[in-house]
Amino acid sequence: MKFVGAHVSAAGGVDQAVVRAHQLEATAFALFTKNQRQWQAAPLSTATIELFRLACERYGYTAAQILPHDSYLINLGHPDAEALAKSRAAFIDEMQRCRQLGLSLLNFHPGSHLRQIDEATCLARIAESINIALDKTAGVTAVIENTAGQGSNLGFRFEQLAAIIDGVEDKSRVGVCIDTCHAFAGGYDLRTEADCDATFGELERVVGLRYLRGMHLNDAKSEFNSRVDRHHSLGLGNIGKTVFRYIMRDARFDGIPLILETVNPDIWPQEIAWLKAQQ
Ligand SMILES: [Zn+2]
Ligand SMILES: [Zn+2]
Repeated sequence: MKFVGAHVSAAGGVDQAVVRAHQLEATAFALFTKNQRQWQAAPLSTATIELFRLACERYGYTAAQILPHDSYLINLGHPDAEALAKSRAAFIDEMQRCRQLGLSLLNFHPGSHLRQIDEATCLARIAESINIALDKTAGVTAVIENTAGQGSNLGFRFEQLAAIIDGVEDKSRVGVCIDTCHAFAGGYDLRTEADCDATFGELERVVGLRYLRGMHLNDAKSEFNSRVDRHHSLGLGNIGKTVFRYIMRDARFDGIPLILETVNPDIWPQEIAWLKAQQ
């Protein structure tokens, strides 16, 4: 069973994200549970939590179909101790919000060394941040997203994802989300079926597909191996449609949220319908 959707707005309340997903005829969705560009957020009220849970029940979304994303401000590998502590506290808050909403996954970008610490130190710091968060929360899996490797962002090599997982004590609550645009920009080709076989074969070999808990389906405005993160609508970018058909027809991608973060929300209904039709 494939779960397909998009990262929808939660403007007006998290329950409105559920309604928007339903309107897209999505069978999955992603959302921010707080403003992604601010550190502080009001705690979720009992009424908000109830509305969200009721909307999920009404429109038929279970936790397996929902992939919340954390704030862009959080850097779990921050070189500075004070900034790191702030990020860790915010990440724990994000995990607790997910738990309150009955969600079981939290998708996040691993972190950046900001050219102040070396890669291995930063990866170890990210793993330690995850350990702290898992220790202080329950029920939510930390889902590390691969990045395009823009700037000093880590997580663009599968080996980096594997190194983080290696440092996490509770392997049952850590996973990965692979973004096709980020993979392509990070040097993993996906343009042909043979490229897809090679890239996902490498993911299996280096990380293990048992850790795959979600996918972001994006074409790329950026060039192959450019380390530039620019999403595009399916089939309109440099990757093309082959990989998206490949994913929809491959059982390795069953039962996890497959989420569009493509640039034109007006055509999300058509993109979702097209994806569903490829099975
Ligand atoms: Zn993404
Ligand atoms: Zn991106």
